[in-house]
Amino acid sequence: NKSRCECNSCYAGSDCSQFLSDCPANADGGDPYFMEPFWMQHAASSAILVSGWHRMSYSYSDGSVISQLLVEYIKKVHGIVGNAITEGKYIVFGSGSTQLLNAAVYALSPDPSMSPAKVVATAPYYPLYREQTQFFNSRDFSYEGDTSLWKNNTNSSFRFIEFVTSPNNPDGKLNKGILKGSDVKTIYDRAYYWPHFTAIPSPADDDLMLFSISKLTGHAGSRFGWAIIKDEAVYQKMMIYLRLSAMGVSRDVQLRVLKLLDVATEGDGKEIFQFTYSTMRDRWIRLKQIIYKSKRFSLQKLSPQYCTFFKRVRDPSPAYAWLKCERQQDMNCYETLKAAGIIGRKGSNFSADERYVRLSLIKSQDDFEILTNKLRSLVAKEWESN
Ligand code: PMP
Repeated sequence: NKSRCECNSCYAGSDCSQFLSDCPANADGGDPYFMEPFWMQHAASSAILVSGWHRMSYSYSDGSVISQLLVEYIKKVHGIVGNAITEGKYIVFGSGSTQLLNAAVYALSPDPSMSPAKVVATAPYYPLYREQTQFFNSRDFSYEGDTSLWKNNTNSSFRFIEFVTSPNNPDGKLNKGILKGSDVKTIYDRAYYWPHFTAIPSPADDDLMLFSISKLTGHAGSRFGWAIIKDEAVYQKMMIYLRLSAMGVSRDVQLRVLKLLDVATEGDGKEIFQFTYSTMRDRWIRLKQIIYKSKRFSLQKLSPQYCTFFKRVRDPSPAYAWLKCERQQDMNCYETLKAAGIIGRKGSNFSADERYVRLSLIKSQDDFEILTNKLRSLVAKEWESN
């Protein structure tokens, strides 16, 4: 039984069983509640108890702020999935991959005697890259708009830092870096590079990759992410950033993540991914069946792809629907959906056209059912009016 405070916004009552028929479908936000049933199934084995006297120190017994045991578990989960090469690389932890975004920009920026690094990303992109870079407002780097503006600047004397999200938030595409040249540094945000959300065509071996527990186990509130780094100098600079900004990640959180990964890698380590993939695939198929009947709305095109983890061709299972309103009169797609009781996230948030809206598919099953009900009636109206 769920406590009142955990009820989905469309349900009320002490056991959340009372359906509030008039409530909107909230498909905004990125809370990965779709994984909650897995953790309910493993409630006892994934629990931790920390006594008051435990882990009071700033550091571990080796003087580090990073648990080496947790590093080993992270390498183990990447080894099981085959989604990233970790051998011979450095791993650092952040308070969510959010903290690591700017740590990486700082570490890849040139020394202050040179002109500031130009930070770019390709629309549609996760807005935090721009927002953080502008917010931290450093002399070492500045946000310089869409990558396409700089595509032909290959001989430029500037340092470029390109954010690449792969799979992409919002559209689930396996993006690759666009800028080429000796002074281009790429930050690969691989938060969604797990079998839940995409086929794994090969292990990623990029110079700097970011991952997040939020999207691996669903524990967004724990605020834990990690970077896998090839170059020692970049690693050292990221460590400076993390030490100066927060003296590393909470030891309590590292303990919790250790426990979660211990459960996630139990047996052959496949159970969690079988659950997450089948849930997300099922949602995508159901959503496609609804939107397929519509001329007014369309979804991003994603194709089945060979997955080295499942050792077969598998269907798409993206974290988000990137919905497009096709009609001229629905130019503001967000408002069109809102009028039908569906709250998404505006395309303009991702530096894209207002014709697009992102709908989150990673929330609870209740959220997904309410969303599909609203979409089904919206599409049905289209046919009634024909
Ligand atoms: N990168 C991308 C592409 C994301 O979508 C998110 C979270 N929605 C993050 C980074 C930040 O994740 P974290 O919870 O680890 O800070």
